[in-house]
Amino acid sequence: MAVAGAAGRMGETACRAVKQAEDLELVARADPALGASLGEALGQGTEVLVDFTVPYSAVANAHEAVAAGVHVVIGTTGFDPGELDDLRGAPANVFIAPNFAIGAVLMMQFAQQAARHMPKAEIIELHHDRKVDRPSGTAARTAALMSEAAPAMPRPPIHSVRLPGLVAHQEVILGALEQTLTIRHDSFGRESFMPGVLLAVRRVGTLEDSPLVGLEHLLT
Ligand code: NAD
Repeated sequence: MAVAGAAGRMGETACRAVKQAEDLELVARADPALGASLGEALGQGTEVLVDFTVPYSAVANAHEAVAAGVHVVIGTTGFDPGELDDLRGAPANVFIAPNFAIGAVLMMQFAQQAARHMPKAEIIELHHDRKVDRPSGTAARTAALMSEAAPAMPRPPIHSVRLPGLVAHQEVILGALEQTLTIRHDSFGRESFMPGVLLAVRRVGTLEDSPLVGLEHLLT
């Protein structure tokens, strides 16, 4: 596999995780900061591309990879996954997850469940101050899933906090008569995302539906 954004915080962590996995081989790192183009990375027997770049390049990278017959796992956030709908039926698959941490996936599921029973909710997402997009992809997806589960509930507003010292955190607060319920998830380091990334890399080639959004679809 190859990693796009290999010089970035998530890309570097993903390269390390792949190197430690016995069944996977890292064949290329693409990143303008390394002077290494995606085109070169795709031409080295690469079967899967992992993308942790920036919103505007993730969509273009996915199109380039699929055109080269390479499956894509996208962790980059801040773009509309609908921009990849034209890749439906393409010979290579695309998997997108706004959050690869298992705890965050469970937080979204619990929030969806709670939304059916409580009338109002708000979301606070907290990230390091070098994150380029806001609201976070996880918060946007949580709000969408809660609205799907409880169409009568007003769409939960999202508050974004950006501070040094934070990694990736989210609180969903639901309110009802004389009570609140708080569901909170914290990623304290980027390793927390890696089991989910490796699971997606192993499974992306066998998806029955593509593009597919959300790690929950791969958890059995
Ligand atoms: P970063 O700024 O540290 O790294 C981004 C890297 O992408 C940089 O090295 C940059 O040079 C490179 N880049 C830019 N354009 C490129 C292109 N066209 N091809 C290849 N590389 C390119 O950012 P980060 O903190 O590593 O985050 C990357 C993305 O991952 C963000 O969108 C962030 O929100 C997302 N993220 C997702 C998850 C998840 O679980 N899905 C978790 C954390 C972060």
